[in-house]
Amino acid sequence: TLTGKTAVVTGSTSGIGLAYARTFAGAGANIVINGMGVPADIEKERSAIETDFKVKAVYSPADMTKPAEIADMIGLGEKTFGSVDILVNNAGIQFVSPIEEFPPEKWEAIISINLSSAFYGIRAAVPGMKKRGWGRIINTASAHSLVASPFKSAYVSAKHGIAGLTKTVALELATFKVTCNCISPGYVWTPLVEHQIPETMKARNMTKEQVIRDVLLAAQPTKEFVTSEQVAALALFLCSDDAAQITGTNLSIDGGWTAE
Ligand code: NAD
Repeated sequence: TLTGKTAVVTGSTSGIGLAYARTFAGAGANIVINGMGVPADIEKERSAIETDFKVKAVYSPADMTKPAEIADMIGLGEKTFGSVDILVNNAGIQFVSPIEEFPPEKWEAIISINLSSAFYGIRAAVPGMKKRGWGRIINTASAHSLVASPFKSAYVSAKHGIAGLTKTVALELATFKVTCNCISPGYVWTPLVEHQIPETMKARNMTKEQVIRDVLLAAQPTKEFVTSEQVAALALFLCSDDAAQITGTNLSIDGGWTAE
């Protein structure tokens, strides 16, 4: 149980992040949600967490490209609930293009949202975790932290970076009862995956059905998408006492993708 603990989940207005937030709330944690979106939709998700799980939830509008706002997000959790015990660095975007046409501003955005934001969040949350002698840092990496696909230069670079950051932080915090791990999903059916279909159709000259069958599920031996709830359940296990000796790992949940 996570009663009395606080979890900050970046990029939790949608997809996998929302599943983490609701799963941790279901285990009793208070939640700081974060992410972009229509304010009324975000408020609906925030209040649903409170009514569905009888915990408290606040929203941080921090933009993951802005280091000062990321520090404010951790501060909001500490001020509102007294601590940030669990930090899930999950916000992420994707862009698919041949490298010679890859827009530099997309490269910069992916590196800052998918990689640097985790550095800034961890940097801000670690002092409190060390002081209290307990913490869980979970980074959403990807199968693309272990293998590459063409046309995803920025994303693959950021996710390999997250895997390295995870190991480094785990070693630094090993004697403080703070663990740091990353979870590497294969394809999960979320808006992020849905939105890259048109770009992939263009880059590979394929129809939507071909992209789903020959690009996405072709990578997954099980021929099934991973679900957000399965990813969140793994994260919840990492927060348990049974997972206290799991640190510095990169846990695949990818239907066998990276076994090939
Ligand atoms: P999603 O698009 O559903 O959610 C992304 C979240 O990040 C949203 O809440 C969005 O508002 C937020 N976000 C984007 N830019 C932001 C910014 N500048 N500041 C703050 N928040 C921002 O995507 P998802 O599939 O749930 O992805 C979540 C994470 O999982 C990402 O890191 C992604 O790389 C990773 N991942 C996804 C898959 C997949 O197949 N869906 C596979 C492996 C890894």
